[in-house]
Amino acid sequence: YGDASQKIDYVFKVVLIGDSAVGKSQILSRFSRNEFSLDSKSTIGVEFQTRTLVIQHKSVKAQIWDTAGQERYRAVTSAYYRGAVGAMLVYDITKRQTFDHIPRWLEELRAHADKNIVIILIGNKSDLEDQRAVPTEDAKEFAQTEGLFFLETSALEATNVENAFLTVLTEIFNIVN
Ligand code: GDP
Ligand code: MG
Repeated sequence: YGDASQKIDYVFKVVLIGDSAVGKSQILSRFSRNEFSLDSKSTIGVEFQTRTLVIQHKSVKAQIWDTAGQERYRAVTSAYYRGAVGAMLVYDITKRQTFDHIPRWLEELRAHADKNIVIILIGNKSDLEDQRAVPTEDAKEFAQTEGLFFLETSALEATNVENAFLTVLTEIFNIVN
C-alpha cells in the first residue's frame, strides 16, 4: 500500500460523490487502507486519502477525496471538484432513492468539474443481494447512455473496489499519455 520513498510520476485527484450512507467512506477506506468498519465515523474530517500504485511501469499517486458529510444537494462546493480528473458516483443497490439521485449528482459534476473528467458509476453493497432495489440492468443502461463506466462493488467484501479505482485511474493514465 504505497512506499513513501518511491518517486511519483503522476498525482491524480479523484472525488467520491453520492448520497449519504451509500458507502463512499468505506469504499475509500477499503481502497486506501484495506479496512472496513460497520460503524463508520472514522474518516470524518479527513479531506482525502492517498494510495500509490503502479500503472504501466509508472507510479501513480491516487488522491481520493471524500465529501465527509456534505452530501446534501448543492452542499459540495466547487473547491471539492477543482482539479479532479476522476469521479466515482456512488449509489446503494438496496436504496432506490440513491440511484434516482444520480442524475442530479451528474449534473453537479458536469457543472463544476472539468469536462474531460473520467466518471464511474458505482452500485455499492452488492453483498446485500437479497435487499436489492436497483436492477443491474437499469444502472448499466443509464451508464451506457451517459457514457460512464459502471461496476457494482462491495466495500464490505472487497468486491470490485480495486477494479473500480483501477478502471478510473487507468483511463485517466491513458488520456494523459
Ligand atoms: P457514506 O456516507 O457514503 O460515506 O457511507 P459510509 O461509508 O459511512 O457507509 C454507510 C453505512 O453503510 C455504514 O454502516 C457502512 O458500514 C455500510 N456499508 C458501506 N459499504 C458497505 C457494503 O459494501 N456492504 C454493506 N453491507 N454495508 C456497507
Ligand atoms: Mg462518508
